[in-house]
Formats: sequence, C-alpha cells, structure tokens
Amino acid sequence: MPVPKYRTSASRRDQRRSHHALTAKSLSTCPNCKEVRMPHHACPSCGHYKGQQAIEPRSFGVGTNAADSIETSSES
Ligand SMILES: [Zn+2]
Repeated sequence: MPVPKYRTSASRRDQRRSHHALTAKSLSTCPNCKEVRMPHHACPSCGHYKGQQAIEPRSFGVGTNAADSIETSSES
C-alpha cells in the first residue's frame, strides 16, 4: 500500500479544508399555507405551486412540518 513520503503540514491541510465549509439551504415560505418550503418546489404540506394545486399533499404528517417527519423516520 502506498504511503505518503512527507507529512502534510498544517498549512497545506488547512488550505485543502478551506473548501469544505457547508452552506445553509435557502428556504422560502409557501404563499398558500406559509409553510417553509424549498424554492422552485411544490409545497410538501399543501401541494401548491405557482398558485395552483400541483401535487397531492402528504397525507401523513398533517399538522407537522417536514422536520418532524424526518425526525420520526430517523428514529426507526
Ligand atoms: Zn403550502
């Protein structure tokens, strides 16, 4: 197995990691139900997009937001 010839310096290591930062997801609110949704996506809670019904809203998780359903799925 190949092994690095030289130890990576702290400067070089940190320069590599300078591109590793995460950016926050941009969120917008649904004009129909005021729920937080992804921009350019149909609202997951009411199914509206561009002022009309685009998809069936999620039957489960009514009255809960998307973060709650994610938490319950991760528990099981
Ligand atoms: Zn909505």
